[in-house]
Amino acid sequence: MKKVLVIALVLISLFTLFIPGTAQAQTGLTVSPSLVTVSFPDSILLAISARSDVDITDIRVHYTVEHQSFATVIAEAKVAFTPAKEVTTQWAWDMRRTGALPPGARVTYWLTVKDSSGAEVETLPSVVKFDDVRFDWNTLEEGQVTLYWYDGDEAFAADLMATAQAALSRMLENTGAELETDVALYIYGSTADLQSSLINTTDWTGGVAYSQYGTIAIGIDPEADLSWGKRTIAHELTHLVVYQVTANPYNSLPTWLNEGLSVFSEGELSVTFAGALAAGEANDLFFSVRSLCSSFSAFTDQAILSYAQSYAIVAYLIDEYGPDKMRELLDVFKLGSGYDEAFIRVYGFDLDALNTLWQGQPVPA
Ligand SMILES: [Zn+2]
Repeated sequence: MKKVLVIALVLISLFTLFIPGTAQAQTGLTVSPSLVTVSFPDSILLAISARSDVDITDIRVHYTVEHQSFATVIAEAKVAFTPAKEVTTQWAWDMRRTGALPPGARVTYWLTVKDSSGAEVETLPSVVKFDDVRFDWNTLEEGQVTLYWYDGDEAFAADLMATAQAALSRMLENTGAELETDVALYIYGSTADLQSSLINTTDWTGGVAYSQYGTIAIGIDPEADLSWGKRTIAHELTHLVVYQVTANPYNSLPTWLNEGLSVFSEGELSVTFAGALAAGEANDLFFSVRSLCSSFSAFTDQAILSYAQSYAIVAYLIDEYGPDKMRELLDVFKLGSGYDEAFIRVYGFDLDALNTLWQGQPVPA
């Protein structure tokens, strides 16, 4: 809410101070509207031109990206050029250096230009949508979810949308948590296409959740990956819900709770996870709940057991204590609570006690 207010104030002040269209100062300093070139996923290029009766000495680009955060950050970049009465130059925002933006991200920017007489002009803010125009996207909208896809027919898209809606219902029913803002699902036609939309991918990635932007990108081949794709949609969408209801500047969720809710949302436990749980119990090889609070192991077997166990702990909490307690837990985490503190407050026991309790339960099939 605060962020919205801040942006509104900035916009209002800009509209009051400056005349729409070409900005102009007394010295004849004028700034033309910039030409914008979006090269997804690498860069946004602004072609800038300005003129004055005296030398132009300073040009800056100010920009901000719409996303969920706790403070509005407006970045400022000084544009390189040789001082002159007429300046034509360009400025590139190189995502390879600053980090990636998701498809569909909305960037608001404006320019401030000064000349040697001290005159200054600030242009009106413009919005650029950082769309992945390399593909011809179709759109399907339902409730708070918009699905974008280009490969596969309408039945394929409807199937994925039904999966997304079912995951949201399952979350609401079992945890009381629901989306607070709209989300976008970008379905790339293959893992290769998805990876071509990312910057600096070092490892294999099949799906990405840009939580702060309410955006998910997944590579799903309609012929080959459908069941995997549907699980991944449910999984990543749940991460967005959980992020939206718990994000705070002080603390994050225990990894097992975050991942456990996402696996829970996928529906029936996969054969791989069920097998890992059975083996874990047979060999008495479970990780402690406390150790699962931090990042999971990079080793595949250990990672699979970590996800499976996270599911089992979450399922235990929901089955045993109900959705209301889970909602309360998420609300307490929203306040930035410590892990033990949150569990003691909501359930009356800490993580060590939880560790003993859930292991006393039969392994979910
Ligand atoms: Zn996950």
